[in-house]
Amino acid sequence: MKKIAIVGMGAAGVSVLNAISKNKDYQNCEIVLYDQPRTFGTGVPYQSDSEKLLINQTADTMSLDPEDSLDFVKWVQKKKGIPNSEKSFFPRTWFGDYMQEKLAESVKMVQPRIIYEWVTDLKVKDDGTYLIKSDTASEHYDIVHLCIGHLPYQDPYQLLGTKGYIHHPYPVKQELANIPRGVRIGIIGTGLTGIDLIRYLKLQDKGYSIQIFSRDGRFPLYRGYEPEIILNHLTMENVQQAKARNNGFVPLEKMIEWFRLECVDKQVDIEYLRLHFSRGNKKQLKEQLCNDNGIGMLQAIIHKMDTHIAEFLQAFTKTDKESFFTYYEPLFKHFRTPMPKESLKELVQWWDSGEIEVWEGLQSVELEDSGFKAEVADDETVKVDYLVNATGHDMEVKQSVYHSELMNHLVQNEIIQPERFGGVKVIWPSAEAISRRFGILRGLFIHGQLIQGIQYGNNAHLLMQQAYKVVNDYTESKKTELKD
Ligand SMILES: Cc1cc2nc3c(=O)[nH]c(=O)nc-3n(C[C@H](O)[C@H](O)[C@H](O)COP(=O)(O)OP(=O)(O)OC[C@H]3O[C@@H](n4cnc5c(N)ncnc54)[C@H](O)[C@@H]3O)c2cc1C
Repeated sequence: MKKIAIVGMGAAGVSVLNAISKNKDYQNCEIVLYDQPRTFGTGVPYQSDSEKLLINQTADTMSLDPEDSLDFVKWVQKKKGIPNSEKSFFPRTWFGDYMQEKLAESVKMVQPRIIYEWVTDLKVKDDGTYLIKSDTASEHYDIVHLCIGHLPYQDPYQLLGTKGYIHHPYPVKQELANIPRGVRIGIIGTGLTGIDLIRYLKLQDKGYSIQIFSRDGRFPLYRGYEPEIILNHLTMENVQQAKARNNGFVPLEKMIEWFRLECVDKQVDIEYLRLHFSRGNKKQLKEQLCNDNGIGMLQAIIHKMDTHIAEFLQAFTKTDKESFFTYYEPLFKHFRTPMPKESLKELVQWWDSGEIEVWEGLQSVELEDSGFKAEVADDETVKVDYLVNATGHDMEVKQSVYHSELMNHLVQNEIIQPERFGGVKVIWPSAEAISRRFGILRGLFIHGQLIQGIQYGNNAHLLMQQAYKVVNDYTESKKTELKD
């Protein structure tokens, strides 16, 4: 009987277990799940927290059931009594509740053993098995699914541990709860985490003065109406044909040409959108609120690419991939990761009324006797009492005081190997780890943000699809071994 560990029970881990529960080839396997109690079955983004934190995608894109893309929409109707919610944005905690139900169904079927602890070490044994250590347990496994989510938050101003600095802001109800009324709070970062924090702090109504700092002042746009579309140019068929003609690669120019053709087909004026919306500043956000000029269609094209985006990136030469990440990806990401429209409306309203202030050109942050001093554009300085980090997660896998004990051990023992474009190297699409020391690690599967340099996308639906693929493809090749 094979023994399988799933380490980390967020969207990826839950989906791996769901896939295992539906595949009869795994029915004789012993399954063990690891995670801390607080995030077991929800992961970090969907854990119990404020309902002000919203999913940044519409409900019809959040299903964790590969057979039914409207599974989450149906759940919302059944549990919350809200009909026709396909294009609505709901609290992330609702998705956490939905995940917990999916988990409970699979637990009932598979009856895994659960170890409510963090894994601290993973070793490769001579016989090809894996030894996993947690605080109180040490067990051998034939197969490991590593689903540990994001790398730690960045700390660009080295403030970790400083009084008044909140390095990891989630769960906000816990981490931001003790900030006294009426103080000046600075938020570093204008991405989706920054939006979460602005909304949460503002809607608390505690008279905070909220100052937002950023280098480029670029806020996300809002998600427009994304119609159901079919891609005609950015297709796997075109990729295969182009690879056959170009020694197994697709030139970046070709991919850009397909992207442009896709925009022309769907009447998206990409140059216009680039000129009018790429800065994400106040003027542009307001312009989008007046007339989104087809951004929803552009977002629909980008969203539709999700299923094959890893294959598209794999098809580039290293040089082309480098060029893509240097010159195109920042803008691609800007259009790809929008916020709900309501959030943008609130942001602009608060900004206009002076209830929040936004400072571009952040140069440095210094600790003062009481609070922090930020130096921004034009040598201006802004003082705040508390500072909250929204600079996003580190992308680089390395040994560091910020990383978990497990991650440091994996790097130190060369079990995982950094990937140039973020996260670690895996074989694609099987997602088995590539180790400099051990070669391809058969049966060590890596999911989620840890393989973002290869998989690129990291939304819940995509993680679910990949989890099912990995689980099912493995049994296709190892049917007999699983029964041993
Ligand atoms: C703040 C935030 C908001 C987001 N919002 C959205 C959204 O609205 N829509 C969307 O589609 N995507 C969103 N995402 C993307 C998100 O990353 C994915 O949707 C998904 O939740 C990631 O799932 P995961 O399982 O890979 O990671 P996580 O959900 O982070 O789960 C990883 C789990 O692994 C556990 N773990 C870590 N280390 C160990 C260890 N050593 N031992 C045992 N367990 C461990 C953690 O405790 C955690 O429970 C958001 C991401 C963030 C950070």
